[in-house]
Amino acid sequence: MNRNDDWMQRDLASLWHPCTQMKDHETLPVVPIRRGKGVWLEDFEGKRYLDIVSSWWVNIFGHANERINARIKQQLDELEHVILSGFTHRPVIELSERLGRLAPTGLGHCFYADNGSSAIEIALKMSYHYWRNVGRPEKRRFLTITNGYHGETLGALSVGDVALYTDTYRPLLLDVIKVPAPDGFGLPREQWVEQARACFVHMERALERHAGELAAVIVEPLIQCAGGMRMYPPEYLTWLREACDRYGVQLIFDEVAVGFGRTGTLFACEQTGVRPDFLCLSKALTGGYLPLSVVMTSDDVYTAFYDDYATLKAFLHSHSYTGNPLACAAALATLDIFEQDDVIATNRGKAAQMERLAAPLREHAHVGDVRQTGMILAIEMVRDKASLSPYDFRERRGLRVFRHALSRGVMLRPLGNVIYWMPPYVITPEELELVAEVTHEGLEIATAD
Ligand SMILES: *Cc1c(COP(=O)(O)O)cnc(C)c1O
Repeated sequence: MNRNDDWMQRDLASLWHPCTQMKDHETLPVVPIRRGKGVWLEDFEGKRYLDIVSSWWVNIFGHANERINARIKQQLDELEHVILSGFTHRPVIELSERLGRLAPTGLGHCFYADNGSSAIEIALKMSYHYWRNVGRPEKRRFLTITNGYHGETLGALSVGDVALYTDTYRPLLLDVIKVPAPDGFGLPREQWVEQARACFVHMERALERHAGELAAVIVEPLIQCAGGMRMYPPEYLTWLREACDRYGVQLIFDEVAVGFGRTGTLFACEQTGVRPDFLCLSKALTGGYLPLSVVMTSDDVYTAFYDDYATLKAFLHSHSYTGNPLACAAALATLDIFEQDDVIATNRGKAAQMERLAAPLREHAHVGDVRQTGMILAIEMVRDKASLSPYDFRERRGLRVFRHALSRGVMLRPLGNVIYWMPPYVITPEELELVAEVTHEGLEIATAD
């Protein structure tokens, strides 16, 4: 009765899965998960899987974490939810105060939603609306870099550039300006800054040309995650802030995926020495427990909306579950763990181990690049090592890695030809060794012909 197959059949008869060609499941099993503990997930037949992708980049302190569980249970008996318009509650106030202290100084106003895409929609709308409120309604366009990803709703898709997700919907999207992204692919790290510098010329030119009609620039700081874990150095963002100031354009940092320690600092923007006008956070915000997102912004933005009601300057955007108390409680427990366990410092050792374990893979005949920023390490498979020419996406090399890893009890889910490790921070050295071993095997199998 409780066997995997039964659940799979019932699933396929009633569900439509995200980011999935459902026909794939004629040959590929859906894995029904019965329970989780730490980095491990377990199916209905007792087989365990190491969650090396942090359940789509959200889980940082393991499944069924006792401290987060306890905090949510306590909140559940007090208040599960309340409207956040005209009313407020303790977890959302405490969370806003703490985020305000942790984020770069000057981002003291928290506006909540319940997923990353919605946070992006909010930042885009707020930026446009800001310019409108200060008498510059012609500033209504957005500028971004290629290969970005900001979510799946239409506004978020518009500022994204991963063809697989955007191309089909192009006729529905906003007209966004895109310039080539800085990208350290295939380069030793010492050359990243030089590459980014050469690339910044395009950004500078676009800002100069379009400043009068631009509301904001939006980027994923340091790592373009869904775009294949492509990485670039913090210097680019420092130059970008300076240029945005010079041209009078706002700056949105989408830290939905990289916030909360992924890049080696709590927020990626700490490494840049600058602050954006909007900081978007979600995913790991609740430790991977509950949907919640927040857009943090400045006094300057906040006061541009602050006026008599009749001026119609207010930001009237809302979502039913905005600032949900259970989600905020999970976020508070997550921030407690960061504080109590000195997570950022401990992660440095784990990141160093990841680097050591992946180093031998650089020599592989079909590995074009091994790159790392903090707790994200990516291994890019290529057809030809010398020219770095990619495998055709139709060959689905990544899927071969996925299948093998699954059989070995590791949930390794490549993005096309890019294998990556994005572990929950509670992973142990032995578990990382297992991941490296299975990755190596998967790589051999996937590139054998
Ligand atoms: C996942 C992601 C989003 C979208 O978040 P959802 O919660 O999936 O809507 C936005 N930006 C980045 C950088 C992401 O990785």
